[in-house]
Amino acid sequence: MATVEGHQIRDIVIVGGGTAGWMMAAAASRVLADGRRRIRLIESDAIGAIGVGEATIPPIIGFNDLLGIDEDAFLSATKGSFKLGIQFENWGAVGERYFHPFGRTGRDFEGIPFHQLWHWLRDEEGVGPLEDYSMCAVAARHGRFAAPSADPRSPLSNLSYAYHFDAALYAAFLRAYAEERGVERIEGRILGAELDGESGNVAAVRMEGDRRVAGDLFIDCSGFRSLLLGEALGVRFIDWSHWLPCDRAIAVPTESEPAIAPYTRSRAHGAGWQWRIPLQHRTGNGHVFASAFMGEEEAQRILLDNLDTAATAEPRLIRFRTGVRERLWHRNVVALGLAGGFLEPLESTSIHLIQTGISKLLALFPDRRWADVERDEYNRLMTSGYGAIRDFIVAHYHVTRRADTPFWTYVRTMDIPDTLARRLALYRLKGRIFRYDDELFTVGSWSAVLNGQGLPPADVDPLTAALDGEALAGAMRKMRQVHENMAVRLPPHRRAIEQGQKMR
Ligand code: FAD
Repeated sequence: MATVEGHQIRDIVIVGGGTAGWMMAAAASRVLADGRRRIRLIESDAIGAIGVGEATIPPIIGFNDLLGIDEDAFLSATKGSFKLGIQFENWGAVGERYFHPFGRTGRDFEGIPFHQLWHWLRDEEGVGPLEDYSMCAVAARHGRFAAPSADPRSPLSNLSYAYHFDAALYAAFLRAYAEERGVERIEGRILGAELDGESGNVAAVRMEGDRRVAGDLFIDCSGFRSLLLGEALGVRFIDWSHWLPCDRAIAVPTESEPAIAPYTRSRAHGAGWQWRIPLQHRTGNGHVFASAFMGEEEAQRILLDNLDTAATAEPRLIRFRTGVRERLWHRNVVALGLAGGFLEPLESTSIHLIQTGISKLLALFPDRRWADVERDEYNRLMTSGYGAIRDFIVAHYHVTRRADTPFWTYVRTMDIPDTLARRLALYRLKGRIFRYDDELFTVGSWSAVLNGQGLPPADVDPLTAALDGEALAGAMRKMRQVHENMAVRLPPHRRAIEQGQKMR
């Protein structure tokens, strides 16, 4: 029986072939294939993948770079589009909207974060909204896109972007990549796992047709079922649904738009929100809602009533639960993707968490039996990453003035995690935001969302007292104008995709 005690880790078995499984397989084929290691992936055509998960955030570019993927080939294979951020509608109050952009917003000055300067001068003539200082937000407003510039004097140097893509085509693209580099795919349904009596490790998975696949290290990418980490090893699921009560989504594709918007749209409804993700060949739409506050029929009606173009397939219901496993690496099993946890899709962070899991696993990759400290470090880093993202998403719901439905009253008045309560208290006082450890969301992201949701700090940063406000307001007016002038000169988004960017 294969155990990792004292043995080289030669046999890696990836359980599941959704986005998580094929991302792991592709990265492993690039980084771990040394001619002696076998990498196998098991998936079941009959079960299939979840088929959603089509909006990403900028670090995905780093993942593609690791694989050496050509951007134009990638966009063409996945029918992808560019994403400059997310437009939120009806979140702070019905009828309001704001943009959470990627990239940099404004410039810090004399060590004072830009959002503090803006709070201080926001009522001065011509200073305008915070998002006018983001090149991404202004380009998105005009439906335009261009590559970031390496020249720090160009406003385009503040740009950053991610992708929207077709989840099924993305998995197929990564599968071709991984198989070309030696990953073996095994098709069929897994019935259960065999544990090694001595170590408690997973020794093998049992499959239909009396098959058995043994391995040294198992990567559980089996989706919400969490076949190995959850079912076989019994690692507890920490339920966060009291903070993130949405637990259903209804998804439906529509025809593609003639001018593809270079951003995700998130429109809040009575008990959740609706996404719109524009791709080259279709638009993805979905209504995420809390079943404790809204029935499925009503949720579906709201979705269908709020589509921009005709539906091209039947709506599909997806059930989920928000939370994370207590540990993501236990014994010889590491869980990635939905098998490890899910935080709901509001800020498009799930694929990023898969990527983070892969890169941290590679950074701590065990060549033989791992030391406890290595496994514990993985768990510590991943757990804190999930927690920080959870707080950011919870803030979108909690920081609202909406009281028009029981759902909004619940999320506005619910108890929130202490870590978020501390952050919001600091912000409410004098607009202060700190970025802890290597957490994902920046000061710019937090300020875009808290300001966009309508949370004003009570006071300005006292350090602004030493600055020349008039001169600064003048510089800010100029920056706003530069962004506007630049945005209208950029190519429309669809043209930018068709022409190919060859950006990096
Ligand atoms: P799955 O896609 O479910 O794959 C599981 C795999 O395991 C499949 O191949 C299946 O066949 C296999 N499997 C399961 N059981 C067995 C068995 N018994 N035998 C053999 N094989 C088995 N993320 C984002 O980053 N951006 C988004 O915009 C986004 N939107 C989302 C919207 C919704 C409504 C939901 C629910 C999620 C969203 N996500 C999003 C999350 C994203 O969909 C997932 O993180 C991503 O698809 C990875 O899924 P997965 O590979 O972990 O699981």
